Amino acid sequence: MIQQISVIAFDADDTLWVNEPYFQETEDKFCSLLEDYLPKHSASQELFKTEMANLDLYGYGIKAYILSMLETVLRVTGNSVNPEILHKVIQYGQEMMNKPIELLDGVEEVLQALSGKYRLVVATKGDLRDQERKLRNSGLEKYFHHIEIMSDKKEKDYHKLLKNLGCSPDHFLMLGNSLKSDVIPVLAIGGHAIHIPYHITWEHERIDYNVEDPRFYKVDSIREILQHLNP
Ligand SMILES: [Mg+2]
Repeated sequence: MIQQISVIAFDADDTLWVNEPYFQETEDKFCSLLEDYLPKHSASQELFKTEMANLDLYGYGIKAYILSMLETVLRVTGNSVNPEILHKVIQYGQEMMNKPIELLDGVEEVLQALSGKYRLVVATKGDLRDQERKLRNSGLEKYFHHIEIMSDKKEKDYHKLLKNLGCSPDHFLMLGNSLKSDVIPVLAIGGHAIHIPYHITWEHERIDYNVEDPRFYKVDSIREILQHLNP
């Protein structure tokens, strides 16, 4: 049982709702568009390279992803691309922004159980407008005291969040599907963290070592977090 928690923060993408599969689906279509120029796995690597190079400049989210896809098309085609391909890329991005929200199993039930007993917060990266749209359409807004759309999830970003919330790290619990973003920085500043793995993880969020910490818990599904809390 995790004691003395007052604020529970939830990651959003692939913790509350489906996200990464939409990116992978778009990437697959994107790579097919470029098949005349390079094999699909190389197109995927080129896109990832562009995304990583642009991360500091653009941050996370679909708009950044569209710009990186466009830049990759121009680079791999030597700027000689048919404008129809550029048009398709923009269309793919807009389709992602209009995807319906698919809540993950157990999410609403868990929020209901915890609501009123803890201050519940969303702490997510991504585009401001896109995340606001997803929250609105998710029907989950009513459970949360505060929504924080963060430019990144490093230690300094969590310090800022906790300061805004007036919460000390030992009373803070973060839940999410990314060890790199939702767990490691939170443990590093003295908070508690629960990892809820999702079956697909973006390459950038993957880490290849085990986390061991007395304030760290791992569960197989979001419902299991209730066993660690006192709702
Ligand atoms: Mg996530």
